[in-house]
Amino acid sequence: MAPKRVLVIGSGPGGLAFVREALRVLPKDGVEITVVEASRRVVFKPILTYVATGFRDPEDVYVSVEGLEKLGVKAIFDEAVKVDAGERKVLLRGGSEISYDYLVVAAGGEPNEAAIPGLAEANINPWTVEGAVKLREALKGLGDGSRVVVGALRPPYPCPPAPFELAGLVVRVGERLGRKFNVTAVFFEKPPLRALGEEVYTRVLKLLESSGIEFIGGIEATEVDPQGKVLRYKGGEVSFDLLAVVPPFKPPRLLRDSGLAPESGWPAVDPYKGFRHAKYDDIFLIGDSSIAVFRAPMSGFLASHMAQAATAAIARDLGVEVEPPKRAYATCFVDHIVDGAAIFCDFTGVIYGEGKPHCHVVAEGPLTGAYKKAYEDYWKGNVAP
Ligand SMILES: Cc1cc2nc3c(=O)[nH]c(=O)nc-3n(C[C@H](O)[C@H](O)[C@H](O)COP(=O)(O)OP(=O)(O)OC[C@H]3O[C@@H](n4cnc5c(N)ncnc54)[C@H](O)[C@@H]3O)c2cc1C
Repeated sequence: MAPKRVLVIGSGPGGLAFVREALRVLPKDGVEITVVEASRRVVFKPILTYVATGFRDPEDVYVSVEGLEKLGVKAIFDEAVKVDAGERKVLLRGGSEISYDYLVVAAGGEPNEAAIPGLAEANINPWTVEGAVKLREALKGLGDGSRVVVGALRPPYPCPPAPFELAGLVVRVGERLGRKFNVTAVFFEKPPLRALGEEVYTRVLKLLESSGIEFIGGIEATEVDPQGKVLRYKGGEVSFDLLAVVPPFKPPRLLRDSGLAPESGWPAVDPYKGFRHAKYDDIFLIGDSSIAVFRAPMSGFLASHMAQAATAAIARDLGVEVEPPKRAYATCFVDHIVDGAAIFCDFTGVIYGEGKPHCHVVAEGPLTGAYKKAYEDYWKGNVAP
């Protein structure tokens, strides 16, 4: 029998985890894996907060994926612009078409600044490399007493605790520059990260307090006035000299343009079938491209879980028994340098049932940054090619 053509779109944490797992468990002569990635170097996003505040260099976020073929897959560096799910083929920006038997979309999510009027004009989005670099320059130019507003206005967005890390790092960069910034963290929930439980939000609130950060929670953002430099929400407003909030995210353009995701909302996938698309059995949507449909956080750890589940489902189709992963764990960090918290959660119940997440603060204090660095080193050394 001819080998099955497995086409993977994206080589971030989801796509790379899929490639690693597929090469490990799928029969070598049973599949041919091709990866389409728009960029020759992908972004390791967890350190964007450090880049945005000048604690790391912008170059540190990039990880070359030019060595993908050495792993034993075919790599095409081009952008996938359309999926023809009926014909089982994908059109690339360069003009070529690739046919598949299985399609694994790990194309991430997209910031949606248009969701809040005025946000795109007034805000520096810290969750992109361009935004992080812009923010670090803007912070350098701010005077003593300047008001910096950070946080997140609506879900979903990658790594829910990370805007609170950014808040603390903005305070630290002010100290480094010999200035005191007035930092406010705005958030749509009160208390922050309520779904992760009391242990987590109590710790996060304590971190904000000890760094002198004002917290305004439970806001429903309505608009931003770029000229007046005011963020308005139902029942109040907050003024700023610098606004760097994380916008809500939406599914990637590829899925929306191909009719595989709605214009607003998230594509339905079946977690019991390895995150197959609800309508197309041969398409898997993993990582930030679909996780928000479960109201679970966009996270590299969960992208990896979904990749393993998708691999196990394909293996089963090919007659190979592979145990799907049993639990869906994720860790995110809030590093304030002088203090911090590593938050570990089990999202199994959230993804596979009606259950709640079970979260704990698993590390605290100034060593938080070292744990986060260990995660970065592991990923760059063992997952990236
Ligand atoms: C500040 C910050 C801190 C974070 N901290 C953590 C943390 O501590 N722990 C954690 O688990 N997660 C963390 N995350 C979240 C984590 O980075 C994301 O959840 C993860 O990157 C998602 O992986 P993904 O593969 O689904 O998507 P992405 O990482 O977005 O990768 C998608 C890839 O697909 C490519 N692509 C997109 N569209 C196309 C196309 N049409 N054609 C070809 N290629 C395409 C892109 O170039 C990209 O390389 C953090 C994120 C941020 C922003």
